[in-house]
Parts: sequence; structure tokens; C-alpha cells
Amino acid sequence: MRHFAIVGSGPAGFYTAEALEKAYGDQARVDILDRFPVPYGLIRFGVAPDHQSLKAVSKRYDKVAESAGVDFIGNVSIGRDVSVAELLDFYDAVILATGAPHDRKLGIPGEDLPGVVGSAEFVGWYNGHPDFADLNPPLGGTHAAVIGNGNVALDCARILSKTRHEFEGSDIVGHALDALDGSALKTVTILGRRGPHQIAMTPKELGELGHLEAAVPIIQTADFPPVEADEPLEPGLRKSVTLLRGFSDLPADKPKRMVFDFFAKPVRIEGDGRAERIIVERTELDEKGAARGTGETYEVPASLIITAIGYSTSPIPDVPFDGGKFVNEAGRIGDRLYAVGWARRGPSGTIGTNRPDGYEVADQIAAARPAGSDEGRGGAEGLKALLGSRGIMPTDYDDWRKIEETENANARPGSPREKFVRPDHWLQAIGR
Ligand code: NAP
Repeated sequence: MRHFAIVGSGPAGFYTAEALEKAYGDQARVDILDRFPVPYGLIRFGVAPDHQSLKAVSKRYDKVAESAGVDFIGNVSIGRDVSVAELLDFYDAVILATGAPHDRKLGIPGEDLPGVVGSAEFVGWYNGHPDFADLNPPLGGTHAAVIGNGNVALDCARILSKTRHEFEGSDIVGHALDALDGSALKTVTILGRRGPHQIAMTPKELGELGHLEAAVPIIQTADFPPVEADEPLEPGLRKSVTLLRGFSDLPADKPKRMVFDFFAKPVRIEGDGRAERIIVERTELDEKGAARGTGETYEVPASLIITAIGYSTSPIPDVPFDGGKFVNEAGRIGDRLYAVGWARRGPSGTIGTNRPDGYEVADQIAAARPAGSDEGRGGAEGLKALLGSRGIMPTDYDDWRKIEETENANARPGSPREKFVRPDHWLQAIGR
């Protein structure tokens, strides 16, 4: 019997488990480990709560978790409770699927002022991530800014702009819903350091902004090249740019504004003990298409500033790490050690991108460690004995189902669930 450990229960972890199960059938046991007793990583804590159709992919992961050869082992932190070297003793291969949960830094003065939060923190706050339950983003001012021109920036700007009514059917956590509902925000500025042709926003996500109840997206037509210049763009990007251009036809008759400010590079954040404004330098594109400062600066008022400029993976002791992800070649980090998903590639692509990624690594593993032979490793049994000796009690998939049932039972009307935002509540739900 082969034993495999996948560290991280987000999309990359589950697709890899599915692939290993297909490759080995009943000749392997696959354990999906997570530091939390609740699975799904990015699906639970990253995907926007008002995008329930995207979250539905977890049903597919449920099937994987319920299959005979796969187990979920929660409440175990790799690098803290057990080392990667120890895992490699128990398992034929270890696959790191730990995602990219940390915000990249802007590296500008004032970034550490209160009022500046990373998108991982802000998204985690409204999605019930326990690390960010106490974030309390300042929502008492009239102006906020989101830095970045990707889909995460759009998620953050949209969540800031929706009404309570528009969150119906979502699983935004109650504390965030109440705080957002009481916000004084009138203007959310979305700052892009390059232009409309360089955005990383997809059409569906942009299109939503044209139909918000209380907010209207605003663009400056002067930021756009002549419409003929859109012709050579890749079709998805062209559609996004067309949608952006179309925002200029919308009546600005709603109480909130989402202002797209292009060619605007943040150079510092200022305020008296807390963020009050961003100083921005006007840019132009250089020969290589990068943002080049023009020397002209201006200020954008904002008492809440969200940086949405990409993520990095958490380093794990003794695993080579560089540029925000694990050092790997086609997913292979070293002998019997692999990475998949954002921990392998960096934070790009859709949820579905992780599927071929996981299958490719599973194929490599299957080629190197064929089914039908094994090295006599102890798998979960050995791991659990070690954890027990350290006083650590892992949770399993049945525990998760109990937590889920309680979250579903606690749902406010119109919402699928009310997530627990404190780890001790997870443990209480399973009688610990
Ligand atoms: P992203 O798509 O890589 O966008 C990052 C943005 O930050 C880019 O506009 C980038 O501008 C900007 N940026 C980077 N460094 C900056 C700096 N120092 N100053 C100012 N701007 C800076 O990353 P993301 O938005 O975090 O999304 C991550 C992945 O998740 C993407 O693949 C995204 O599509 C996906 N996602 C999908 C959905 C969905 O499908 N609904 C939702 C959320 C996320 P430059 O281009 O100039 O570098």
C-alpha cells in the first residue's frame, strides 16, 4: 500500500487527491491535511461570499473526501506540529498544496499605518477566516481605495459597495455584513498602475459592477486609447475593456461611486497616525509596457486602503522557498516532495487551473512510485501516533460534517450558513 500526504485542503489539494486516487485505485491511501478542522481553503476563505456558484465546486471535493481511499486530517499544522521530514518518514510522497495566503507588500512609506489592510486580510475578514476575525477594517470614512487591477481588487471593491439586500443568498459572515451595512463609504477608488489594456479583470466580474443597487462604476474616457486599439486584444481582455468603456454611458445617479483611476502608481500613504490619503504618481507605459512615473503626483483621499496586488505562500522550515513560492521544477521540490497549485506556480489562474496542475504532479508521482509495490511506510497510523505523543488531536471528515451541520443550522434567513469565525467554536461543535 502506498501512502500520500497532501498538505492543504484547497482546490489544488483536492484535485491532486482525486488524481492520485484515479492513478492508484485501492493501492494507495491519500491523506489531506489541514491546519483547520474545516476544509476547502480558498473556496471557503477566498472566493467571494456573493459568488456561491463558484463555491459549489466544493461538492466535487466532498465526493473525493468521501471516497474510500481518501481521508481528511484537520487541526494539524505542518512545520509546527509535525515537520515535513517527519511526514516524509510516514508517507511515500508529500505534496504541498498550501496556497498563497499572504499579501505581497507594496514597499512604500506609510504602508504600515492603521487603515491599510491587505486583500488576504480583508477577504479573510468577510469570509470568516479566524486569523482575521478581529480585523475591524475602518468603515467610518467616506473614501476607500483598492490598489490593484485584478479580480481580487474587484471582489474587494464590490463587497465594499453592495447593500445588505444584495448580500442575500451569500455566506458573508454576520460581523462583516453588519459592519459593511453601517459603513459611511461613498467613494471607492480602484487604482491601477497601468492602463485599461493591462487590467487582469475578467468580463463576468467587471460586468457585475454595471448592475449594483447603490453604486455606479466611473471611468475617465481620456484614460482609454482609441477604440480601434482594442481590436488586437485577446478576446477575453477585449470584452473586459469594452465593458469598462461602457461604464461611461451609465447614469451616475447612485449614492456610491466606484472610480477606476488608471495610470496611477501609489508612492506613499499619509495620515496623522492613520491612513488618510494615498499620494499617487501619474504613469505612462514604457517600451516594455511597464509603468513609468511621469513625476506628476496627486492625492487620493482614503481612510481605508486595501492592497490587492498578489499573494505569496507561507514558507515551511527546510523547504526551499523563493519569490513567494516553493522552489520546484514542474512541481517537484526534491526527493518525494512536491508542490501543486499556487504554492507551485504562484497566485494566478482560476480554480480550474489547479486541476491539470494536480493531475500532472500525480502522474509524476505514479511514474516514480508505481502501484503494487511500497516501502512499508506507516501513513496516517504513524502520523497519528506521533501527533498523539505531542498531545495533538487531529479531526476527521465526520467532524467537519458536524461543524458544517451546525453552521447550516445557524444560518440567518436567506443565507446558506453562518460560518464560525473562532477555532474554539469549531472544536465546541464537535464536542471538544
Ligand atoms: P492579479 O490578477 O495578479 O492582479 C494583481 C494586480 O496588482 C495587477 O493589476 C498588478 O498590476 C497589480 N500590482 C502588482 N503589484 C503592484 C504594485 N506594486 N503597485 C500597484 N499595483 C500592483 O492578482 P489577484 O487579483 O490577486 O488575483 C489572483 C488570481 O486569482 C488571479 O488569477 C485572479 O484572476 C484569480 N481570481 C479570480 C476570481 C474570479 O474568477 N472571480 C476572483 C478573485 C481572484 P500589473 O499588471 O501592473 O503588475
